[in-house]
Amino acid sequence: MFRKLLKILLPLFIVVLLFLAGIKLFGAEELDQWLNRIASDPDAPVPEEADLALHRSMFIADLHADTLKWDRDLLERGLWGHLDVPRMVEGSVALQSFTIVTRSPFPFGRERFQGTEKCVDGDRLDIANVLATVQGRPSDSALARAVYQIERLKEAAARSRAEGRTELRLLLTAEDLRQLVIDRRNGEQVVGAILGIEGGHWVGAESASGSVEKDMKMLFDLGVRQFAATHRFDNGLAGSSEGCERYGLTQRGERALLAAEALGMAVDLAHMSEAGMKDAARLLSKPLMVSHTGVKGQCVEPCRPARNLSDDQIRLVLESGGIIGIGYWPYAVGPSIWHIADAMEYTMLLAKEMGLEADAHVSLGSDYDGSVQPFFDVSELSLLTAVMRQRPQPFSNEAIRNIAGLNVCRYFARILPGGSDALALDICATPSSDGAVPDLRSGSTRR
Ligand SMILES: [Zn+2]
Repeated sequence: MFRKLLKILLPLFIVVLLFLAGIKLFGAEELDQWLNRIASDPDAPVPEEADLALHRSMFIADLHADTLKWDRDLLERGLWGHLDVPRMVEGSVALQSFTIVTRSPFPFGRERFQGTEKCVDGDRLDIANVLATVQGRPSDSALARAVYQIERLKEAAARSRAEGRTELRLLLTAEDLRQLVIDRRNGEQVVGAILGIEGGHWVGAESASGSVEKDMKMLFDLGVRQFAATHRFDNGLAGSSEGCERYGLTQRGERALLAAEALGMAVDLAHMSEAGMKDAARLLSKPLMVSHTGVKGQCVEPCRPARNLSDDQIRLVLESGGIIGIGYWPYAVGPSIWHIADAMEYTMLLAKEMGLEADAHVSLGSDYDGSVQPFFDVSELSLLTAVMRQRPQPFSNEAIRNIAGLNVCRYFARILPGGSDALALDICATPSSDGAVPDLRSGSTRR
């Protein structure tokens, strides 16, 4: 028995040891460089003047980036990774969700399966903990790791104001979003940030306050406005799409999502199991959101179907009036940059079939700095506008404006505290053909 156990455990122990030694030896910075590379596509388009002109004129918003996990200064242009404020300015991005990862199971070892599919075992050694330790950050709990990342964003925001650089502004209310739109329209150098959680593992657990509502209120008070219950493994709130059991919402999960909705947080269903998404759709009354995904129906190797949405899941989000952020990396969409727009088009066709406005539900979900290799960093985002305009069946400029940011603008204008449908229509409007936009100061629409 002992020998048998030794035979299983020893190789695992050696792999873990080598991995840890690797992180220690190369350092967190090298890990960041290695995990957050950029995938090249020789068939990427060359943006034309008209692509660039449209790109620069849009309100651009992205639903997912894990940048706070790494030790780069958000205010300095990084030499690696995918996103920081200077590169957001180069890519014309107005609004970015900064999502916080606090647990990542060790990727190697004895495999577990769900049916015939490999699954992610949440009981494995937590690499997020190891990374935080090596970085010298608080590491003892998932909550401590989350709070630290929240503070990092706030510190960068305060410094951006104090030093008179491009302002990084944390948005907490619908009014903050309105002000961001106005200030950018007036030419002010400001980018907006939404704080998000990717995996609320501790919410309602004995190790935290023991109360779901208290833990959610704490996150809200800390400034979190986007909440994904799950990440890549099943947790106390819900099963994950890549988990080993993939159950639906637990009682804790139901209470967490209801609390998020009542507080004015976006409920992000990225990574959730199919059963969990169905439960959430039944439970919630506001529009649903999936911050970063591909679609199973348009998934070309090496795209991984398990982390992507099925047609039924897409329909659940569309029926709720929600939005789906499409990712930019090969595991989400396929081997070519053109597949990003194919996944978008697939979703738009489903919407059309349902009698909905085709381009009102698709948005950007880069997963920048999420240990993925997108086809471009945020400074080169105009490539995506070029893809949408130069593909064999080009998207209209209006559709591109909606996808690039107006859908996200409308979504948050409805969901954030103080938000409403009227505000969404008012501040997230498409310019008319003569370029006129609503006059937000008077609160009425002027053409
Ligand atoms: Zn993710």
